[in-house]
Amino acid sequence: MIILTTNLFDPRKHYSEDELISLTQSLIRIPSHKDTPGQEKEIAYFMNEYLKNHSIDSVLHPVIDERPNVIARISGNGTGHSLMFNGHTDTVLPYNMTIDPYAAEIKDGKIYGRGAVDMKGALACFMMTLIILRRTGFVPGGDVIFTGVIGEEGKSEGTEYIVKSDIRADAAIVGEPSDYEYAVGHRGLEWFDVIIYGKASHSGRPDKGVNAIEHAMTFIQRVKQDLYPVLKEKYDEYSGESVMNFGTITGGTEQSTVADRCVIRLDRRYIPGETKESVMAEYQEIIDRIKAEDPTFSAEIRVTPDSLLELYHPPLITSVNEPIVSALRESIKDIIHREPTITRGIGWSDAGLLKTYANIPTVVFGPGDLSLAHTEEEHVSTEDLMNAVDIYCHLVQRFTTLAPE
Ligand SMILES: [Zn+2]
Repeated sequence: MIILTTNLFDPRKHYSEDELISLTQSLIRIPSHKDTPGQEKEIAYFMNEYLKNHSIDSVLHPVIDERPNVIARISGNGTGHSLMFNGHTDTVLPYNMTIDPYAAEIKDGKIYGRGAVDMKGALACFMMTLIILRRTGFVPGGDVIFTGVIGEEGKSEGTEYIVKSDIRADAAIVGEPSDYEYAVGHRGLEWFDVIIYGKASHSGRPDKGVNAIEHAMTFIQRVKQDLYPVLKEKYDEYSGESVMNFGTITGGTEQSTVADRCVIRLDRRYIPGETKESVMAEYQEIIDRIKAEDPTFSAEIRVTPDSLLELYHPPLITSVNEPIVSALRESIKDIIHREPTITRGIGWSDAGLLKTYANIPTVVFGPGDLSLAHTEEEHVSTEDLMNAVDIYCHLVQRFTTLAPE
């Protein structure tokens, strides 16, 4: 494969630092979490107008409850690869932030606020990249598509919409913060409820009932004893370990009544080779085994209601041999002047949906430090933002000029 490394234009000649800072600040100043009326609606309208004001084709696609995705496009001339930039427009709640989450204050070269790093900074960089392409007059070989999607912190409604639509590209970048590294894999993620059924009776006659709380304890012990060692054996070089977490447990009605029901909610992070079905089967096996020993034991496992729309949250598995990986690696190298590291074991992202359901080779790469996401003093440095714009612009020039196979 031949990658053109000469004659890359210099993005910094086509925009100013102030312009990028001001765009990032504008995005942070528009709250877009689940308690915001309309959620991502206002920010999507803002982004759409902003892009259109810079002569970019941009449209809103209402996804659910009038919450729209923003889809913008720089058309290519059809001689090369198309590339999608994907970023979510929602954020988590401000929780107990110690700074004003929406002031977007600047201190020591860093912009502070909810979403600064996860991932309004990346959204600003994606938008600026398209604007720069427009300003330079660079015509990519294939379309450069920006998808600003809703709901990634929830059910990923926005990217689920993308994969069910006819919007396609030869590769995609998801802009989750990666601190000059990049990820080609991460674990899948599903939430499950284990419902334990008992039989109520007066606490004075516990022998007449079946205690669901005690049976929940049995289930938990068996998972620790039988499943934990199995999970310990599983490892994927890009996704990391296969793990689970008992998140909540709710059961019983009152102290003087034998508990007739107990619900355990758990989170399961699974690796390539495992599926939602295979991990459910592991729990089902444990349920069946306990039941064989104790016929009064009754339980079932289900996907936690309301934890997804329709599609599951599979692992991301992109081959390191994909042209997008080498093009990105080269583009990061332009800036950091050394071979970038592959990040392993990051959290789930929309990249899993793009790769699994739309078969788009997808890599996670975005400005800032992931460990600052969702934190009390979330921030991103302007230097990281400018470097990301450089890298995205270099990537477009490299990847879209590759001839399609
Ligand atoms: Zn994110």
